[in-house]
Amino acid sequence: MFRDTAQRRAIVEVIKSLGHATVPNIAEKLEENGENIALSTIYRSLESLEKQRIVRRISYKYGTDVFEDYEQETHDHFVCNHCHKIVDVSKNEENQKEKFDNNGNLIQSSVTIYYGICKDCLKKR
Ligand SMILES: [Zn+2]
Ligand SMILES: [Zn+2]
Repeated sequence: MFRDTAQRRAIVEVIKSLGHATVPNIAEKLEENGENIALSTIYRSLESLEKQRIVRRISYKYGTDVFEDYEQETHDHFVCNHCHKIVDVSKNEENQKEKFDNNGNLIQSSVTIYYGICKDCLKKR
């Protein structure tokens, strides 16, 4: 097996175990697992994994991009303005069907990020 393939597999496994993972999260977890993969390799691998639709990149206004397993059902994300945590928001079934916009373009994917205050932070207010 090619070294590249093994490294990519290790990265995907880590992302799956973490749910939503930043590059530092991924690097830390890989190290814990005894895998020594250079940051530059992680970045490069993520780029190709993203192109192959194995991982999904989520860019949001706090911090660095987050990566997650692409195989999950499409879902939106909720970001807390207070603690900056990012959580999945499951879409209702209607949203998962093929949709056309008002101009007749077929929408194949969308990234919706809600910003607000998470329920844990609301409790503390
Ligand atoms: Zn919060
Ligand atoms: Zn997610």
